[in-house]
Amino acid sequence: MAPAVHQFWKIRNELSVDDGLVLFGCRLVIPQSSRRDILQNLHAAHPGIVRMKRRARQTIYWPGLSNDIVAFVDSCQVCQELQPSQQQEPLLRDALPERVFEEVSADLFESGRLHVLVYTDRLSGWPSNGYAEAAVDAIKRLVLKIAPAGDLTSDAFMQGLLKFRNTPSENGMSPAEMVFGSQLRSILPAHRTSFAPRWKDIMTARDRQHALDDEVKKRYDERARPLSPMTIGSHVRIQDPHSLLWDRAGQIVSIGKYRSYRVKFASGSVLWRNRRHLRPLLSDDKDAQKIPGIEGDATTPPANSNDDGVPET
Ligand SMILES: [Zn+2]
Repeated sequence: MAPAVHQFWKIRNELSVDDGLVLFGCRLVIPQSSRRDILQNLHAAHPGIVRMKRRARQTIYWPGLSNDIVAFVDSCQVCQELQPSQQQEPLLRDALPERVFEEVSADLFESGRLHVLVYTDRLSGWPSNGYAEAAVDAIKRLVLKIAPAGDLTSDAFMQGLLKFRNTPSENGMSPAEMVFGSQLRSILPAHRTSFAPRWKDIMTARDRQHALDDEVKKRYDERARPLSPMTIGSHVRIQDPHSLLWDRAGQIVSIGKYRSYRVKFASGSVLWRNRRHLRPLLSDDKDAQKIPGIEGDATTPPANSNDDGVPET
């Protein structure tokens, strides 16, 4: 039996001919040569895969129709660019360091003519929202607000920095207490006992911080779902962080920490992107080759293949 005929064998009892047209139940069986036109027609208003399948099943049929619809939508530039953003992933958290200055965060930025290196200790500057970079950001804001001209020796800036170091975080201890065991003298009036070392309290604060972090992670993860990891060489569609359009394509060239991937863009630039802004490029359609930088060999067949010639119900 010829393959073209064989694929109809399973449904032979439901096929009929009416006035020269082949019918499957009451659905019109579309010949190969017209399938592309039919798909274009069905997709005129850019419906999603589910709606497009539902509409098609009312009137037409060919073996592999479902897969062809998936591939068609996957390769539609408009639909792919306007895909919604991906969900949050569960919060990543490093273990809290054991000693101060065991782990640090640093950032370099410009303020006026000055280049400023901010350097914070992860343990003592451990921020309440779970991101090590938050402490760096706080200092950055301090510089920009109090010393916009770049004068870091001014009284105002020194007082601001002192206040930052003495301000307790959510765990009840200030960065100064975590590092030096006591508050630093500042212009705020304080009794001398408040400068006594509090090492025991510091251990308690550390435990409290662990509990707080667990709580933050639990709350955050309730709305999160992990995304599958990607491999080097994978072709991806990339979401623009500002327009939120999935209008760039590229290829993964290396894998970093914290779900970051180094992506070679079609333009040739190589940038870090978080997994949340990357999707696997699914299309096996010729249109995929129109995405700049994606060569003809870049394509993979659609992942779901539930179609063995028998229509879904
Ligand atoms: Zn579309």
